[in-house]
Amino acid sequence: MIQIKNAKELEGMRRACAISAAALKFGGDSIEPGMTTAELDKLIYDFIVKHGAKPNFKGLYGFPGTACISLNDVVIHGIPSHDTVIHPGDIISIDTGAKIDGFNGDNACTFACGKIDSEAQRLLDVTKEALHLGIAQAKAGNRIGDIGHAVQSYCEENGFSVVRDYVGHGVGKELHEDPEVPNYGNAGRGPRLVSGMTIAIEPMVCQNDYHVVPGPGGWTVKTRDGGLAAHFEHSVAILPGGPEILTRGWEDPDFKL
Ligand code: MG
Repeated sequence: MIQIKNAKELEGMRRACAISAAALKFGGDSIEPGMTTAELDKLIYDFIVKHGAKPNFKGLYGFPGTACISLNDVVIHGIPSHDTVIHPGDIISIDTGAKIDGFNGDNACTFACGKIDSEAQRLLDVTKEALHLGIAQAKAGNRIGDIGHAVQSYCEENGFSVVRDYVGHGVGKELHEDPEVPNYGNAGRGPRLVSGMTIAIEPMVCQNDYHVVPGPGGWTVKTRDGGLAAHFEHSVAILPGGPEILTRGWEDPDFKL
């Protein structure tokens, strides 16, 4: 069932999403060549806890980390590991969230370690722009399919493909709520968007083919063809005046908690 948030619940969402965004930004700023993804995960864990919140990925469906940290051909759900070292030229997707006072935030960004090649940079730019084109469709009266259609069209116009096997979702008192928010599909289809809905829109975009293969336990999902993948995500509230990007802080250079 789709949960509609009242004004007080939206305030709770803003707080949880602000901490989530700050944690993501901190994670991105902390990336250093030679660091392991387990070290990076620990820094993000400490940041969230220091701000009085709970890392809401930890333990969910048995996930061991605070953040999913996914390098290069890993699309999503990379398990932080002492064996995975970040090298210059890598792209690093960090997906993390915080829970506070009963509400959840969720957000993701693909960062670069040092200089990356121009095609990798184009993948990051297109995925981020696709996220914002999807968000622009997240307005009351539209349908879920309008979001996915905007994301898919833009990615495919740019020669990339969108993952089908994993989708965005409602977010609120639970990290994953209804409805599903696919990054593909037909405009004008799916559930109607209503003011007070809060959803996580999260394009997962592949350099080549969109087929993906999960690793052991279903985690560490890689592209089947070994191509690169990017993942950008915002938690968004649908309000009478249009979408409000609750996790905008990770994009804002002047953002402070
Ligand atoms: Mg999500």
